[in-house]
Amino acid sequence: MERIYVLDTTLRDGEQVPGAKLTGAEKLEIARQLAVLGVDVIEAGFPASSPGDFEAVRTISREIRGAGVTALARAVQSDIDAVWEAVRDAEQPQIHIVLGVSDIHLQGKFRRSREDILAMGVEAVRYAKKFTPYVQYSTEDAGRADLGYLTQTVTAVIEAGATVVNIPDTTGYCDPREFGRIILTIKNEVPNIDQAILSVHCHNDLGMATANTLAAIKNGARRIEATINGLGERAGNTALEEVVMALKVKADFYGAMTHIHTEEIARTSRLVSSLTGIWVQPNKAIVGSNAFAHSSGIHQDGVLKNRQTYEIIDPHSVGITESRIVLTARSGRHALRARLRDLGREVDDARLEQFHQQFLELADRKKEVYDEDLLSLLAEQERTHEERAYELLALKVSLGTNSIPRAVVTLRFPDRREETAEAQGSGPVDAAYSAIDQLVGKQARLLEFSLQSVTEGIDAQARVSVRIEIDNDVFIGRGIDSDIVLSGVKAYLDAWNRAAFRESNPTLVRA
Ligand SMILES: [Zn+2]
Repeated sequence: MERIYVLDTTLRDGEQVPGAKLTGAEKLEIARQLAVLGVDVIEAGFPASSPGDFEAVRTISREIRGAGVTALARAVQSDIDAVWEAVRDAEQPQIHIVLGVSDIHLQGKFRRSREDILAMGVEAVRYAKKFTPYVQYSTEDAGRADLGYLTQTVTAVIEAGATVVNIPDTTGYCDPREFGRIILTIKNEVPNIDQAILSVHCHNDLGMATANTLAAIKNGARRIEATINGLGERAGNTALEEVVMALKVKADFYGAMTHIHTEEIARTSRLVSSLTGIWVQPNKAIVGSNAFAHSSGIHQDGVLKNRQTYEIIDPHSVGITESRIVLTARSGRHALRARLRDLGREVDDARLEQFHQQFLELADRKKEVYDEDLLSLLAEQERTHEERAYELLALKVSLGTNSIPRAVVTLRFPDRREETAEAQGSGPVDAAYSAIDQLVGKQARLLEFSLQSVTEGIDAQARVSVRIEIDNDVFIGRGIDSDIVLSGVKAYLDAWNRAAFRESNPTLVRA
């Protein structure tokens, strides 16, 4: 079996999704879970982009053991310096340099000749090698590049010391046969290719990221870059869980394997979704909520007789277990902590105390508390735990068939001041949002509002996700409560808090 290495770029490429901005603590939490999942390298960010991102990469490098840490640099010394300063304390620090290779990028972005760009790339690799033996070079937009120039570039950067050459289909343009051929050509025509690991990074603009990545493996790639839930720019990246499970389920066909602990996939997916605020579509392969649901009578009957009739993957192998009633209002702190531990989450005494209170409030309203409820509640507590700019102190709404809905909202501001505002609207949520805008002193434009129930039953918790636009920037917010108006208000405030967090941690540039 060929070993396939996995670089996870959820915290870099995935975090570039509009509104998915994570705090340093959230990034660290995801990095911890990625190490548990067993990824080989974590791409933790783009340190030159902002002081906040630099700090997050440094913290992850210092805390995470069991996985290498890398971060992105453009082919300029100041970016490489920033990466090295941020990753130097990692167990295996790596530097990732990216530079365009297609004529479209060379002319459109850099206005430089092929020779110039090649020299710039070689120089950047040589510079990075002074800091660490592990230097990765990515030929941006390789999917649309001239194949001759691409192989020439790969040869030159390996010569200069690159230990990983990564071939990105940056625009998601390639077809699997085409992309496989590019990889095969590099494998056959780059004379020093055995001195570096050949890696791929695919985007999903035509829905072919997973197929292209697998085609690359079939043709000799030995490392993949991917994200959890396929997060990433535009239509996203290759979904890590899809490639890993394809290799596992079709081991005979690919003759290749990763060292990913697949039973951690579902948990990692849920964590990323809850911290980024970006839900997974129900029919998403491997991690969608319907991925293992059999709805037609014929299928159900077959599965009951023998699971393999309609199921190629055992749900337990990706960490999916059935909803179970775990706790009630009579459950104490010990039971709560033990259950959280089973779910892979450790909480200290102070947080447990606070969490237990929230749990009791929930258990009072909702008799049966499921694992999903606990995880949602914990995610909400973690997200608002730090950087909480605005806090909801009170909400009162009135509505009826013949009256105009009104809302009275009391907020606590970062400077501990408390204020109340009243507004009316087309419904209670709309009225509450207007009151919040009044209090914050700015108007947000609501782009999207979606409501989902966490589990089944009339007393289930409602999960609301909103996307709002403030000063031409998009922010995602999530809220959860057994009251749908309250969960909508929490989601809205969460988005406002993310906007406030961004204001204090501006992003300077984007890769
Ligand atoms: Zn990308």
